[in-house]
Amino acid sequence: MNNTPLRVLIHGASGRMGKALLRLAAEDESLQVVGAVVGRPPSQRVIDGVPHFAAREMGGAPAFDVAIDFSLPEGFDPILALCVARGAGFVSGTTGISPAQREALAASAGKIPLVWASNFSLGVAVLDELVERAAQALAAWDCDIVESHHTQKKDAPSGTALTLGAAAQRGGAQPHYASLRAGDIVGEHLVQFTGLGERIELVHRATNRDIFARGALHAARRLRGKAPGSYRVRDLLD
Ligand code: NAD
Repeated sequence: MNNTPLRVLIHGASGRMGKALLRLAAEDESLQVVGAVVGRPPSQRVIDGVPHFAAREMGGAPAFDVAIDFSLPEGFDPILALCVARGAGFVSGTTGISPAQREALAASAGKIPLVWASNFSLGVAVLDELVERAAQALAAWDCDIVESHHTQKKDAPSGTALTLGAAAQRGGAQPHYASLRAGDIVGEHLVQFTGLGERIELVHRATNRDIFARGALHAARRLRGKAPGSYRVRDLLD
């Protein structure tokens, strides 16, 4: 058991998720945030004792064990490359990444331990299993996935909707997607199976984005000492 704090680099630190990660990591003695990376040059070099870097200065970041990335697809390639160059772990929740970026992720898994997940909440991990099970039993029913998020969210359908859709497809259903962007909704996913005269609705509602930040910090702790490979959130639960 390694008792020295895990050295973490937060990428996308000025965003909604980045701020939650910085706040929760600061309360956790098992973690030491050694740097924070933001898209635009930071207004202050050191905030609450944490050195801040613009994305293009990231090569100068101090040594770290794991980078946690909640940014945008345009920021994804450089932080993954930095983790490979440093031999560090990579935890990413950035959604909307391209097929080429997914391939880069798979190739990097041969070199470093990493986890990419469209949703780091425990509830969605369970929903994923329920959707696959329902689809197996109801493959002939219509399957619709409706996702709702705040108006700032750029990608649609959400990464979580696509992950749930993949679970439905594994079960034999053919999902259709609808996206709503409204107010400050943190994240809601409804998976609806409709037959003749009956309907099943499986819903997950996130009311606080700390659930995603806690899941990502937990995954970062569990990646320490792991062999290179691509891990799922559920592989890192215990
Ligand atoms: P946000 O827009 O509030 O923040 C984005 C952050 O990325 C900012 O700090 C910005 O400076 C940074 N950034 C932008 N371009 C960059 C670049 N080229 N290089 C480096 N950094 C860059 O977004 P948010 O709500 O915090 O969400 C961030 C990402 O996390 C999105 O992709 C979102 O869909 C995803 N998300 C995932 C989960 C999950 O559980 N997997 C949960 C919530 C959000």
